[in-house]
Parts: sequence; structure tokens; C-alpha cells
Amino acid sequence: MKKTERKTLLVCPDCASSNIEFKVWYNPNDRKSTAFELDDGEIEDGWCHTCEVQISHCVESEVSIEIKTK
Ligand SMILES: [Zn+2]
Repeated sequence: MKKTERKTLLVCPDCASSNIEFKVWYNPNDRKSTAFELDDGEIEDGWCHTCEVQISHCVESEVSIEIKTK
């Protein structure tokens, strides 16, 4: 039996891929990264692995994810 779940992901504004990364500040003294807060989808320094270009913001996209249930 399959179940689908709606989930909101942050995606590339060009290709709508969720295969994106962004840089975060990391504090080596307390060994944790600074809490990253998205301000209206604005990102400092992002990268889309699908387009292979730098992105300056991301958008929210609602996707359906299939979940296999036994
Ligand atoms: Zn992209």
C-alpha cells in the first residue's frame, strides 16, 4: 500500500530542483553552526546542483512524496 504526503521544500527558483546547497556560518569553538534563518527565502550564497549556477534565493514548493507502508 502506498501513501502520499505533501511536503514543502525549498527549491531552486529556475529549475525547481531541491538539490540545492547554501553556505552557513560555523563556529569552531562551540562546534555548532549558527542557526540559519530563512528570511523570505533569501540565502546568502547558494548553489543549485542541477543548474550548476549560483543562486541568491530559493522558493518554497509543495511536493508529493510517496511513502511505502507495509
Ligand atoms: Zn536549478
